[in-house]
Amino acid sequence: MYLQQNSSLQPFNTFHISETAQWFTRFDSTEILQQLLQNPTIQHLPKLVLGGGSNILFTKPFKGIILKNEIKGIEKIKEDNDYVYLQVGAGEQWHQFVQYCVQHNWGGVENLSLIPGCVGAAPIQNIGAYGVEVKDVIESVEAYDIVENKFIYLLNKECHFGYRDSVFRHNYKHTHIITSVIFRLRKYPIFNIQYGAIQNELEQMQVRHLSIQAISEAVIHIRQSKLPDPAVLGNAGSFFKNPTILKSQFEDLKKKYPSIVGYPLPSELIKLAAGWLIEQCGLKGYRKGDVGCHEKQALVIVNYGKASGQEVYDFSEKIIQTVQQKFAVLLEREVNVI
Ligand SMILES: Cc1cc2nc3c(=O)[nH]c(=O)nc-3n(C[C@H](O)[C@H](O)[C@H](O)COP(=O)(O)OP(=O)(O)OC[C@H]3O[C@@H](n4cnc5c(N)ncnc54)[C@H](O)[C@@H]3O)c2cc1C
Repeated sequence: MYLQQNSSLQPFNTFHISETAQWFTRFDSTEILQQLLQNPTIQHLPKLVLGGGSNILFTKPFKGIILKNEIKGIEKIKEDNDYVYLQVGAGEQWHQFVQYCVQHNWGGVENLSLIPGCVGAAPIQNIGAYGVEVKDVIESVEAYDIVENKFIYLLNKECHFGYRDSVFRHNYKHTHIITSVIFRLRKYPIFNIQYGAIQNELEQMQVRHLSIQAISEAVIHIRQSKLPDPAVLGNAGSFFKNPTILKSQFEDLKKKYPSIVGYPLPSELIKLAAGWLIEQCGLKGYRKGDVGCHEKQALVIVNYGKASGQEVYDFSEKIIQTVQQKFAVLLEREVNVI
């Protein structure tokens, strides 16, 4: 067990923010995690679990211990006529896990190709893309309760999944460390190509026989063409969630802005496209110092070089205020601000 003091966090967050952690360590098994949590040096310190650092913004030095989750392993634990059940270590790379499923022709996660980060973080904000959310394939989640010092096993419905949301962002935040996830994948995949962008890409690829391999490749092409690669340009993907408003407010906005984009939800609510709202404020491609809204996707805030976490945060605050003034709609951050 190796504890590092005053450790740089720059290599461990995709925004490439240069902050430090008072203590930093890694664990690659549940046994080591349990030992670490008993360690007198760190036992009473604030703790933060880190996966790939692709949904986090450090705005100040972290006074406590960062525990980097590196628990690996993909194991088939059950199989029936229609499904395979895989238990996957929380430290596995999400995209590598997707590729593994695609290679075995096990369907359900292909639309979520190329999302950065680790498997353990996927349930936290119920990652989603191109008409699929990870809740659609999660059977259960194993987590260590650091208050009660015991493992818990949550079934899908006990995770209270919502749009970019779960119990791990609320009641279990800071108290539960996800150690593995059990996925239920289809042996006979059902293809989800409801998104026009996927259909267009498949046409361009001249795909004759639809497969999850083809869908995965289409999603990878689309993402590579419109999202900045964090290895080249620091970012954490969508910085804000798509806001939800009442239908009556949407109708008022539609009179003023006829091209406004809205998706009806149950219970008279409408989901707006946050990227569209930001773009309408003239902020797409806008840059202040080393922080800016990406030129192809306004929803993505990028670090062009040496921006500090506080500068990124202030920039996001400015966006929230500008959108609020123009549309009376409040944007909520998707990225975890520390
Ligand atoms: C270019 C780009 C594109 C993206 N596209 C998408 C997208 O399409 N859809 C989408 O939903 N997201 C997207 N994201 C966001 C991000 O990739 C996901 O949210 C991902 O699941 C984060 O994983 P991570 O391991 O990097 O989490 P981290 O950033 O390391 O952690 C995120 C939060 O989860 C907590 N956490 C991490 N692991 C654990 C654990 N094992 N137990 C308890 N808490 C934990 C951390 O403390 C932190 O609060 C994108 C990001 C980038 C950079």
